[in-house]
Amino acid sequence: MARILIIGGGFAGCIAADMLCPKGHDVTLVEQAPFLGGGCKTFTYGGHPYTLGPRHFLTRREEVFEFLNRKCPMRRYDAGHEFLTYIERDQQFYHFPIHRDEIDEMPDRDKILAELAECPGADKARNLEEYWVFSVGPTLYDKFVDGYSRKMWGIESNTEIVDFGFTPKGVALKTGPKAAWSEAISGFPYALNGYDDYFTAATVDAKVHLNTTIEDFDIANYRVKIAGEWHTYDLIVSTLSPEIILKDAFGPLRWAGRDFLKIVLPVKEALPPEIFFLYYANAEPFTRIVEYKKFYHYDAPTTLLGIEIPSKKNKLYPFPMKEDQDRHRQYIEALPERVFSVGRSGTYRYLDVGNIIEQGMDVFRDV
Ligand SMILES: Cc1cc2nc3c(=O)[nH]c(=O)nc-3n(C[C@H](O)[C@H](O)[C@H](O)COP(=O)(O)OP(=O)(O)OC[C@H]3O[C@@H](n4cnc5c(N)ncnc54)[C@H](O)[C@@H]3O)c2cc1C
Repeated sequence: MARILIIGGGFAGCIAADMLCPKGHDVTLVEQAPFLGGGCKTFTYGGHPYTLGPRHFLTRREEVFEFLNRKCPMRRYDAGHEFLTYIERDQQFYHFPIHRDEIDEMPDRDKILAELAECPGADKARNLEEYWVFSVGPTLYDKFVDGYSRKMWGIESNTEIVDFGFTPKGVALKTGPKAAWSEAISGFPYALNGYDDYFTAATVDAKVHLNTTIEDFDIANYRVKIAGEWHTYDLIVSTLSPEIILKDAFGPLRWAGRDFLKIVLPVKEALPPEIFFLYYANAEPFTRIVEYKKFYHYDAPTTLLGIEIPSKKNKLYPFPMKEDQDRHRQYIEALPERVFSVGRSGTYRYLDVGNIIEQGMDVFRDV
């Protein structure tokens, strides 16, 4: 039996506990917030359940869906589940990912089709701009990606971005059903408190310390300081950015953040029934609007919308730039064995919930 410390009680920390506790290890989980779940915790506003952003579940692996579904019964969205992008210069909403059939409805259809015929394909792309221009041509890139991505990261040019993990599911131009990511398993918990019961169930056999901050790290010696005392472990699972646990040894990593606005409207439903959220690719300051009812099926005469505005106030999106990715690699290489850096911040990757569960299942299966 090993003494294991898990730092952070978001999805990544809870999955680690779920995988490690049944093996008989002595697992301690430390979370600085007064609740488990991190970014996927459900709150309420005016009775409406919501998370900060959609937190919609997606995976390509049935076993990943089933792993969650076992403890957190999940509603599947096989069809009737779509996302749109507003393109102001066309005064139109189009599906996202960009759909081949909708090019025929665009005012600059002929130019786009001519550009598509000339596209070399993304094999030789060196950055996000080239990835899109080589895949769909400059006009579609300008409409759907250029402004959105620069707004999202607060940058001058998408040539700065070398990690195409940000490209939604690797799909540049879609054909077939218009429902977004129809090739992936998609869903959301049935419960009105979303994923919250999973976080409790996953950690039931761990010693959970909420409202607890780690004051100092001595990762080389598997020690952390809490309330003035050092505690030593056999193995550490960290879901924090490695710059924190290695005390800025290689300098800071950059992040993008979000401000979240909540707006209740006096209508039962604001978006068409099949539309779950909207992207805005123009000069407006926000990137996305989500209608929470679409996920929670909460029955009320009003509806709650969440609006996401890029911000520098919090660290939610790891930067997909070469300089930052190289620096992150230095941190990971400096970690001793038996220290696992997992989750979105720990791996400094644009991971979603499905990826986080998959990572937890794969990394801790043999620990
Ligand atoms: C706006 C937004 C919308 C998203 N929407 C979706 C979506 O629709 N679908 C999807 O699949 N994914 C979505 N994601 C991604 C998904 O939410 C993340 O992949 C997932 O929540 C990451 O889990 P995590 O445990 O790695 O991190 P977190 O949820 O951030 O958890 C980290 C935990 O560590 C705690 N912590 C931090 N510092 C300390 C410390 N010093 N000591 C102790 N504890 C600490 C935090 O309080 C937090 O609870 C979205 C992300 C964002 C930002």
